[in-house]
Amino acid sequence: MSKQQNNDWLIWQDAVQRDVIDRAIRSLYAALDAAVAERSPVCNTSGRCCRFEEFGHRLYVTGLEIAWFLQALGSRESGVGHQGGSSGLPLQQLVTGREPQASSPIPNCLYQVDGLCSTHTIRPLGCRVFFCEAGTEAWQQDTTERFLDRLKQLHAEHGLPYVYMEWRTGLVEARRALG
Ligand code: SF4
Repeated sequence: MSKQQNNDWLIWQDAVQRDVIDRAIRSLYAALDAAVAERSPVCNTSGRCCRFEEFGHRLYVTGLEIAWFLQALGSRESGVGHQGGSSGLPLQQLVTGREPQASSPIPNCLYQVDGLCSTHTIRPLGCRVFFCEAGTEAWQQDTTERFLDRLKQLHAEHGLPYVYMEWRTGLVEARRALG
């Protein structure tokens, strides 16, 4: 990992500890959840969308989202803030590089447990908007773009680096950079 990439993670980690950033991300996710709820998409809880290799797609997130997710996860597991069971966090078992890979040694999201998301309340933007229901692609695309724009604005307002990355790869990178 380059010095610049390492520095980005330190900036994001610092940013998500600021109340103003934390509130903005929570507010953005709440607004996104409301926008999605208006569409009443159907989820049959097959869990396939979180099994990336089987489903044949990738989840992309921003580095800031990963830093916020890990902070929220840490708070939850230490009993601060969110409630819920352990998510399991075997990041140290991952070995991969920065670039999204055609075939990852980790086929599923680490946070899917018994077919369900164990981190539902703190999952990133892409997880909140994606549904495999046929005929929902157009509004998903539109909603994703609208909320990504809002996320970009948040970065710009606070002078934060904006980097979009594959979920599993980003988690590994974060762990390497932040320990
Ligand atoms: S964070 Fe949750 S919803 Fe998102 S890919 Fe992982 S298990 Fe699925």
